[in-house]
Amino acid sequence: MEKLIITVAPTGNVPTKELNPHSPLTVKEIIEDVKACQAAGASIAHLHVRGDDLKPTSDKAIFSDLLDGIYKEKIDIITQVSTGARGGENTVDYRGQMLDLKTEMASLSTGSSNFPTSINGNSPDLIEALASKMLNNGIKPEIEVFDVAMIENALKLVKKGILKDNLHFNLVMNVPGSIKGTPKNLMFLIDSLPKNSTFSISGIGWSQVNMAAISIMMGGHVRTGLEDVIKYDRDTLATNEMLVRRIVRLAKEFGREIATTDEARQILGL
Ligand code: MG
Repeated sequence: MEKLIITVAPTGNVPTKELNPHSPLTVKEIIEDVKACQAAGASIAHLHVRGDDLKPTSDKAIFSDLLDGIYKEKIDIITQVSTGARGGENTVDYRGQMLDLKTEMASLSTGSSNFPTSINGNSPDLIEALASKMLNNGIKPEIEVFDVAMIENALKLVKKGILKDNLHFNLVMNVPGSIKGTPKNLMFLIDSLPKNSTFSISGIGWSQVNMAAISIMMGGHVRTGLEDVIKYDRDTLATNEMLVRRIVRLAKEFGREIATTDEARQILGL
């Protein structure tokens, strides 16, 4: 089986210091966590940023500071910027402003869904515009799948030539309002993926370890981090590093080796 790519999603849109004081929110805090998680076994960093008010933003200048910091520190990790920040306009100019920066990957949701108190709104025009910008700038998309129709939508974009083959998916399991994180649902999504694609999973909340274990067994990859899960277990607030270390231990028990960053690049065709 291929080596396991571990992605760390340290910040996301939801975590606050109130929810978990370990949440890295400033550029400096995010860089420190990315560094520790890379040392622990992560080969991709899925990055969101916050504004001065610590609210989610797509601000290119802040993304630029973050990416520059990661490169300056020589952290050996694939950077993946999020185009999914909440709180801004749903236009390619806003949501895709950081795609002009030097980065190897970016996230791309290929459909809309509900979050608990808002819409995860991605119109067909917006999806095509973001995907086209990634294609033109040589950035590999990670297709964020919150429900099965989003896989079909991605295949339509392949037919149109906007997405290139050897797609990479992240199956986001158990977001309230989207597909529930059950083994049957995950198997159904995995069965629905096109041949020659690679996939990772994000098990949100209580589904975290179950989903990760199935993905490790099925030859998929794993995303973890405070974006996906705030608590390590019922009584313990997580840190990003603890979450990455748990996936490394789990993989070891299943006999799955961890990919280095260069091995991850090979697996993903970067
Ligand atoms: Mg994200």
